[in-house]
Amino acid sequence: MRKEDCIFCKIANGEIPSKSLYEDEKFRVILDLGPAAKGHSLILPKDHAANLYELPEKLAGDAMILAKKMASLLTEKLNCDGINLVQNNGEAAGQTVEHFHIHLIPRYKGDGQNINWVPGKPSQEELEAVRKQILE
Ligand code: AMP
Ligand code: ZN
Repeated sequence: MRKEDCIFCKIANGEIPSKSLYEDEKFRVILDLGPAAKGHSLILPKDHAANLYELPEKLAGDAMILAKKMASLLTEKLNCDGINLVQNNGEAAGQTVEHFHIHLIPRYKGDGQNINWVPGKPSQEELEAVRKQILE
């Protein structure tokens, strides 16, 4: 189901042109307009889901299988040295377009990009408290 005024619904379904790399009945893969690196691509489901929480399980599985195929294609064709999969959910996590998407970001040695985080230094007790909070 598409959502009115959702730009990724329109792109995924071909109503707005894009630099399309792949299409099937469920997904379109496009080049990101603001790439972190050469070949930065986005996997877009054709049906609207705002984020991972809303994405039907079957589509989530299909999206990961497609990500694997696209990762191999990008690596073979662009000769990149690695690839990051990034998938943001919610504003706090950096999501700017509220239509589920997976970023495929080819990485090149010395490309200077930084898709990392500052590691914390929790104690064993703090880790255990989080573990309990999640599991209780
Ligand atoms: P996120 O921050 O995870 O929501 O990522 C949104 C991504 O969509 C960003 O990397 C943008 O550069 C990209 N983007 C936004 N609008 C378009 C568009 N019309 N075509 C291609 N990529 C887009
Ligand atoms: Zn949408």
